[in-house]
Amino acid sequence: MSTTSIQLPFLQGNGFSRASRRIALAVRKNQNLAVMLVHVRDIERLCASIGHLPANAVLDDFHAQLRAIARDGDAIERLGERKFAVLLGGLRNSGHVSLAAQKIKRVASETVSKHVENMNLKLTIGVVLCPAQGNEAHELMRLAEIASLDARRQSTSVCFYETKSAEQLFEDWGLEGRLGSAIEAGDLELHYQPKISIRTREVVGAEALMRWQEPEIGPISPDVFINLAESTGQIVDLTHFAIQRACRQLSEWQEVLPELNIAVNVTPSIIQNFDIIDALQSATGIWDVRPQALTMEVTENALMADPEISHEVLTRIRDLGCRVSIDDFGTGYSSLEYLKKIPADELKIDRTFVMNMLSDPGDHKIVEHSIRIAESFGLSVVAEGVESAAMLDELQEFGCEYAQGYVICRPVPADEFVEFCRNSSLALKASGTT
Ligand code: C2E
Ligand code: CA
Ligand code: CA
Repeated sequence: MSTTSIQLPFLQGNGFSRASRRIALAVRKNQNLAVMLVHVRDIERLCASIGHLPANAVLDDFHAQLRAIARDGDAIERLGERKFAVLLGGLRNSGHVSLAAQKIKRVASETVSKHVENMNLKLTIGVVLCPAQGNEAHELMRLAEIASLDARRQSTSVCFYETKSAEQLFEDWGLEGRLGSAIEAGDLELHYQPKISIRTREVVGAEALMRWQEPEIGPISPDVFINLAESTGQIVDLTHFAIQRACRQLSEWQEVLPELNIAVNVTPSIIQNFDIIDALQSATGIWDVRPQALTMEVTENALMADPEISHEVLTRIRDLGCRVSIDDFGTGYSSLEYLKKIPADELKIDRTFVMNMLSDPGDHKIVEHSIRIAESFGLSVVAEGVESAAMLDELQEFGCEYAQGYVICRPVPADEFVEFCRNSSLALKASGTT
């Protein structure tokens, strides 16, 4: 992470779940909604000019001013250090969005000029329409990220998502080539998010999440580049890179975190090919890592793409000694019959259910039943997307063993992860979870 970025742990989570609830409501009521993803571009310049804390105060003020101009039916959420979602309700036409974009830019320039002289806040705004272009929060955010990339590409501030433009855009940016070079040059970085035991509050593992800071384009979301890699076949090199990096990290942490387990994400195409077995054998051999220290996270949907072959590949992975986790549980279509036979050790309840479990009785039930299903099949269970102390308490009541989420710690670079583990009881206290 660059030294100029502002640390705002835990913010993205709450904002994201409120935004997903607003989207779900619009879909239920059959309302048109525009999802505008607003990226603040030149935070580094702002930090350099006035310092981190005052720069953060500018962004807080920008958020407050955006809320002040919102109308009934709109929602404004801060999703990260430099990212805001503006949901425009009661949408009539695209002119409505353009008008809102003008207002947002005006608010940005008025806000910054209150705090610093002669500076403007550059924004890019990616727009996607709901339900016309999607009706699920994660997918809409991914499409809005692509629209925002398009805006960067065209050097304009506002872009609407277009299906055609996504492919054209990847071509224009030369994204496939850039991703290939980044993998080859080792420019992709793994961040680590702690997984804790809810009972003891100790860190027991980490999920490795890939980050790509493209030198010219800036940060690109994994939801965008993993999808691209899967469609171009680059996912094989990318996954082997992730496995190698995770093993290297385990070997570097041998002394400080000897019991740590690292989970690596794998996509459908990876889990339908036996090459992953060689990749695991080779990486654990090179870095002298116990295979038990590695977990492969595979989504429920990936398993269903070809249940027979994935069953065989997973069996071989477990024969090596590595663990297998079923990711995003609850979003796929696996039958209990299939789950009964699945060669897995762990089940991860999808974050969209966990995030809304205290406000949505349906999601509450899904979380509770997923825990029971895991128990009855002898799988350990992890709740991901835990965003508040109250959720952690409720999960403990349900008998859930492990948790991951922004209220504990967001994904962080390797050195910050070690620091978190050292101070982990302290960090949990600071976030109000103990
Ligand atoms: P995932 O496997 O479901 O990973 C969890 C995602 O949830 C991560 O998003 C993480 O930052 C986010 N998250 C963690 N805690 C919370 C929380 O409390 N609230 C909310 N709202 N979100 C939380 P991220 O890092 O953007 O990754 C998105 C997806 O990209 C991942 O979803 C995974 O499918 C994929 N991905 C990331 N790295 C890799 C990789 O190395 N290989 C593969 N194949 N896929 C990857
Ligand atoms: Ca995962
Ligand atoms: Ca997941």
